[in-house]
This record gives sequence, C-alpha cells and structure tokens, in this order.
Amino acid sequence: MHVTMVGAGLSGAVIGRALAEAGHRVTVVESRPHVAGNCHTERDRDTGVMVHVYGPHIFHTDDAGVWDYVNRFETFLPYRNRVKTTSRGAVYSLPVNLHTINQFYGKTLRPDEARAFLESQADTSIADPQTFEEQALRFVGRDLYETFFKGYTQKQWGCSPTELPASILRRLPVRFNYDDNYFFHRFQGMPEGGYTVMVERILDHPAIEVRLSTRFARDRTGDCDHVFYSGPLDGWFGCDLGRLGYRTLDFERFTYRGDYQGCAVMNYGDAEVPFTRITEHKHFAPWEDHEGSVLYREFSRDCGPEDIPYYPIRLVAEKALLGAYVERASAERGVTFVGRLGTYRYLDMDVTIREALDAARLFLDTAASGEAMPAFVVRPV
Ligand SMILES: Cc1cc2nc3c(=O)[nH]c(=O)nc-3n(C[C@H](O)[C@H](O)[C@H](O)COP(=O)(O)OP(=O)(O)OC[C@H]3O[C@@H](n4cnc5c(N)ncnc54)[C@H](O)[C@@H]3O)c2cc1C
Repeated sequence: MHVTMVGAGLSGAVIGRALAEAGHRVTVVESRPHVAGNCHTERDRDTGVMVHVYGPHIFHTDDAGVWDYVNRFETFLPYRNRVKTTSRGAVYSLPVNLHTINQFYGKTLRPDEARAFLESQADTSIADPQTFEEQALRFVGRDLYETFFKGYTQKQWGCSPTELPASILRRLPVRFNYDDNYFFHRFQGMPEGGYTVMVERILDHPAIEVRLSTRFARDRTGDCDHVFYSGPLDGWFGCDLGRLGYRTLDFERFTYRGDYQGCAVMNYGDAEVPFTRITEHKHFAPWEDHEGSVLYREFSRDCGPEDIPYYPIRLVAEKALLGAYVERASAERGVTFVGRLGTYRYLDMDVTIREALDAARLFLDTAASGEAMPAFVVRPV
C-alpha cells in the first residue's frame, strides 16, 4: 500500500519506518524545513553548541523496548536532569527535596523529621482539596507553595492556581531524600548527535520519501491508501468548531562567553520575573566542550492561530470541544490521528514512540485481516 505520514516528528517517522520495513511505500509530508518535529536539534554555527530549537528535550523511559528502539538509530549518552530554581533571592534544588526543605527552613532535618515538619506546616482545615492551590496548601503549606509552586504555575498556565484543578499537582509533590534527579525512569540519556540525526536515520529507508516544506491538505487524503495525521486535530477540520486551547512558548535567545548559569535548567519561581526558566543548551551535552554558550529565556502565553501549539490546556471548556472533534474524527475514513497534536495530549517522547509502534502494528494487522483501520489507536477522551 501507499501510506502518507503527515508530519516528520517522532510519530510520523516511527510509524513510517515500521510500515516501510513491512513492505509498504511511505510518503512523509512535513510543513517545516526539517524533520524531528518539536524535538528538532541543530548545531549553532558560531558556538558549536547543540541547540534544542523548540525547547529542551531529555529522553527518559521505563520502556525497555522503546529504549532499544532509539538506541538502534543513535548512541544515547548518560544524562541526568538536575533542575535549580531561583526564588525569593535564593537558589534551590528541584524537585523540592530534603536539601530544598532544609535550606529553605535553615534546618538539618532527617527524612522522618522533615515529613512530620511539613505536616505541621500543612493546612489541615482543607479536607477535600479542589484546586491546585488548595492541594498545595493542604500538603506542603503556604511557605513552600508560594516559593516553589505559585508563581511558576501562574506563569506557565496564565491563570491563578485557584482556577486549576487539584489533579495537576500530585498529593505530595516533594521528596524526603536528597535525590534531585528530575525523572525516576530506569533509562535516561541524550542522543549524542541530537534528535534530528536520530530521526533522519529512522526515515532513511528506500521505501520512504520525505517531502519537507510541504503542507498537507485534507482534500489530498484520497491520493493514497491511508493517512497517519500527526498535525492538530482541530486543524484537520479547519478549526470550524473553534480552536482547542494551547499554551505556546516564546524563546528569547541569547549568547554568552563562558558558563552563564552553571546548569542546564534554572527555573524562576517568582511571579514578578516574566519568564519561567532559562535553559543553557551546552549543559544538555556535558560530554562536549564549548567556550561559547547559547541560552533561551522561556516565556509562556496563550497560543494564537499563527503560534506553535506546545501544551494542550485540557480544562473543562477544551474537553467539551475535544469531545466534539473526536466524534467527527471517528467518522472519517482513511485517516488515523496520532501523536501529541493529533490526539490533543501532552506526550513524552517515549510514550509517543510506544504509541507509534502500536499504531503501526495495528495497521499491519488490520491490513492483513481486511478490517478498517480506526481513526484513533488511543482515544483522546
Ligand atoms: C517545550 C516542550 C518540551 C518537551 N520536553 C520533553 C522532554 O524533555 N522529554 C520528553 O520525553 N518529551 C518532551 N516533550 C514532548 C515531545 O516534544 C513530544 O513527545 C514529541 O514532539 C511528539 O512527537 P509528534 O511527532 O507527535 O509531534 P511533533 O513533534 O509536533 O511533530 C508533528 C509534526 O507535524 C507537522 N505538521 C503538522 N501539521 C502538518 C500539515 N498539515 N502538513 C505537514 N506537516 C504538518 C509539524 O510541523 C510537526 O513537525 C516536550 C514537549 C514540549 C512542547
């Protein structure tokens, strides 16, 4: 069969590769002038630093199959994400851990003592937290909430934490040990040559043709046997029911000679600082050595029609609209909606790859049995 992938991000590349290896002909259509979607990396010409163009990406997973898959196409070198935050005139370690608590309160608590201490700070009058703010006050108390969660969350989501559901925050978003590794996953690392090289290798197959700087329009669906669409779900329908809400990011790029901040990610927790964080890209490749440095100041705001959609908002209003689009999409023939935009979900790279492998498997099975390929492999609602 001849199958079209709309989008050369991880979703399109991984599905395309699996179908090509199974003997199908694949055309990948990508509106941007490069592959790898939002994971795109490129070397800065002046400094030689590998820049994560659409924001920093750290690979982490518990899925051994996905880890084997990415290592088939690129060498992954060890990397641990250790984030700091500048809040109220001091620098602390994140996620909030025993070091953060002891530094913040000027104490030398051991794990059990810290647990008991935080309970004494918690607002136990809140029996059933409904909002993000209530959840934080209930489990960590006002001081930690205002220093580490309130300002950052407000900037990230563009609204007060009193308007966000409690479910966004884990019940106890702190660690009572000195583990400052941001992720818990068994496999963590960074691709030695960047993500774009990895995706180029995934797409490097004689049965795959890649067309860059080409926009796919819905009326071309009939030109092939099936379409996997990893663009925005509402965009497929011309957003005629309205736009699904996203947050977008603005990156203010700047350079520095030397080491600007001594770490890859420095958050800014205070509401008065307009950006959420500064990322220093050379620290994402600690095995490299560069005199110059490339940094991004990151600002978060509502996504307009011309902006790049980054984080789906998925509050009550969006969920209703999403339901309407999902219903319409389910009635479409010859197209399957995949990936972070096609299913309007935040997906880490490992989940994206796992779902893409599953989608390809289902396509091959349905093709063999003569059944119709569904519009969604994972339903967004
Ligand atoms: C700021 C940020 C940081 C992140 N950090 C991490 C991280 O640290 N670790 C992690 O695991 N994950 C991270 N992620 C998630 C990661 O970016 C996604 O898992 C991944 O990009 C999903 O791949 P995708 O192919 O589904 O989507 P995308 O990468 O968005 O690819 C979709 C592609 O489709 C193209 N397209 C859309 N419509 C059309 C059309 N009509 N015609 C042609 N082409 C079209 C787009 O141009 C795009 O290139 C992060 C995400 C964001 C937003």
